[in-house]
Amino acid sequence: MNYFKKKFIILLYHKIGNYPENAKFPGLYVTEENFDRQIKYLKNKGYTFLTLSRMKQIYDEYYRNNTGKDNNLNKKNKNDKFVSITFDDGSRSIYLKGLKIIKDNNVNATVFMVSDLIGDINTWDIKNGENKDEMLNIEELQEMIKSGIEIGAHTKTHPHLTIIPEKIAYEEISASKKILEEKLNIDINFFAYPYGDYNENVKNLVEKAGFQGACITKTGIVKNNADFFELRRVAIRHNTDFFKFKRKIFKVKYLK
Ligand SMILES: [Zn+2]
Repeated sequence: MNYFKKKFIILLYHKIGNYPENAKFPGLYVTEENFDRQIKYLKNKGYTFLTLSRMKQIYDEYYRNNTGKDNNLNKKNKNDKFVSITFDDGSRSIYLKGLKIIKDNNVNATVFMVSDLIGDINTWDIKNGENKDEMLNIEELQEMIKSGIEIGAHTKTHPHLTIIPEKIAYEEISASKKILEEKLNIDINFFAYPYGDYNENVKNLVEKAGFQGACITKTGIVKNNADFFELRRVAIRHNTDFFKFKRKIFKVKYLK
């Protein structure tokens, strides 16, 4: 059984649109034109777009429930390619500028929301010197859920989880799940570590809080035997032009 050609890729985005002139982290913006072109490219290449929860189901069917015997699913879909769009933080630009592109292309995505900042502003980012940016509010999150978008958790306040006391880190992780589940009346299955900051202890806290997996910011695809609490992604930035985008998608499978 050759799994080599199956691919599970998770893309990492933050904000959609042109960056403001005085943005401190302009790389976090991807223009609408680029976002649309990137989605269309992947669709043309035969990628199926999945939310992370759906990706995990399909991944498990391929890799984990397999008894070693060939089965129809594996045979039929030997060369399947899957991609998940993820957004960290929950910027309102995802709703204002990204949602239409997602819907027009008939794809989906997963948004990692900072749960204390629903309908608020990017206070952690402002402390780091960034411009003010509005965060998604409840109505927008609900509308996005109706459009097939999955919501994940990204802590309550976006701290560095490895440098705060364990008790507070666990509260940041577990309460963000509970708050989003209560406010949105859905299951929150996935988590993303703020700043990509994690270690073995933090990973264990995320698992203990009941998540099915967690995304990091290191580059890579989701390979067979992947650690689902250390899901690698491909970061797309403002300066990721079309050539760079294609190269990133092509090259990522060769990374360890
Ligand atoms: Zn973040």
